[in-house]
Amino acid sequence: MAPISSTAHSISPVAKAAALVVAAGRGLRAGGELPKQYQHIAGMSVLERAIRALREAPNLASAIVVIHPEDREHYEAIAARICETADGFLLPPAVGGPTRQASVRAGLEALAKAPPEIVLIHDAARPFLSKTLVERAIEAARVHGAAVPGVPVNDTIRQLSTGRAYGETLPRDSLRAIQTPQAFTFAKIRDAHARAAAAGLETFTDDGGLAEWAGIEVHVFEGEAENTKLSLPADFARADQQLRSQTETRTGLGYDVHAFGEGDFVMLGGIKIAHTQGIIAHSDGDVLLHALTDALLGALGDGDIGMHFPPSDPRWRDAASRLFFEEAVARARKRGGRILHLDATVICEAPRIGIHRDAIRASIAAIAGIGEGRVSVKATTSERLGFTGRGEGIAAQAIATLELPFAEHG
Ligand code: MG
Repeated sequence: MAPISSTAHSISPVAKAAALVVAAGRGLRAGGELPKQYQHIAGMSVLERAIRALREAPNLASAIVVIHPEDREHYEAIAARICETADGFLLPPAVGGPTRQASVRAGLEALAKAPPEIVLIHDAARPFLSKTLVERAIEAARVHGAAVPGVPVNDTIRQLSTGRAYGETLPRDSLRAIQTPQAFTFAKIRDAHARAAAAGLETFTDDGGLAEWAGIEVHVFEGEAENTKLSLPADFARADQQLRSQTETRTGLGYDVHAFGEGDFVMLGGIKIAHTQGIIAHSDGDVLLHALTDALLGALGDGDIGMHFPPSDPRWRDAASRLFFEEAVARARKRGGRILHLDATVICEAPRIGIHRDAIRASIAAIAGIGEGRVSVKATTSERLGFTGRGEGIAAQAIATLELPFAEHG
């Protein structure tokens, strides 16, 4: 067979690259009821994490996942979630074969309907690859035609069965642990797979090895230590713990207004403040707690106060607004969140807020379960302009800053 030409000159600098994710295995060593690629770590399946990580890479045009026929339902649920935000990236899945090699081949044949220039073959059990690694793989395939990521080996590796009980130390400098994604000129690896299958060879466990068998020179580029493979229950437990320790900071905004009416007090931050008027509201009309509740819900991406406590619901008639705020705080806690800071401004001509500021701060801090140093309450008039300036009502703005476990969403 004539060698296929695939030098760097024949591939454009922005070659169209696709990922082929191998997810057809049964993954029995990982334990659990589901194949390992569908098991969750920190609230998201391994496969979904792998696809989302690939999608982060700007030069990767599409991805095809090779699935086991029995896993179609599990896969469709993941695909539906991902396609909500990434139309066109995820191609219809291919159905795998009895071996990893057969599954890769099925994926390559499916991709061949609209062949990319470069294909990155990746194991679903490696969900922690970075977009930098993907970019490096694409570039390595563009330059070398066939390239696999390798990481230096830190342990001393002894080769046993050398006739001596303790075997021999292999020279560490020349050892590399080989990972995926392995990157190839599409036509070249498709041809190599077809030839291996025609030769009756079905047991290659990695595509670099198959390519080498087919006479293709395989380049090794720099892999990533973080790009570990999840195989055993302990790998899953470690990954879960690590992800849960990662956090992100989010902010949310809240705003609320109520009109003054008959009465002799207003509620602000859960504190009763004497005034010449009262508040017209379904609940106790605490604008400050309403704004803070919306700010927390905003940071969580969890709707708004009207959604959780509809004014049409008689349960909330004359309700203490601290119930609403407590619920928002509870929702943040449930998500593993930590309230870092709450800042609010009350806007009115009267009553005067300044003398009540410390009591309001203490009240909000107590309900939120955080230190007073993490609560700020400010007040302003609106210079007699607008509805607050005319003394028709009272308004409040708030911002909540939350720390959330990174894995709870995304
Ligand atoms: Mg309100």
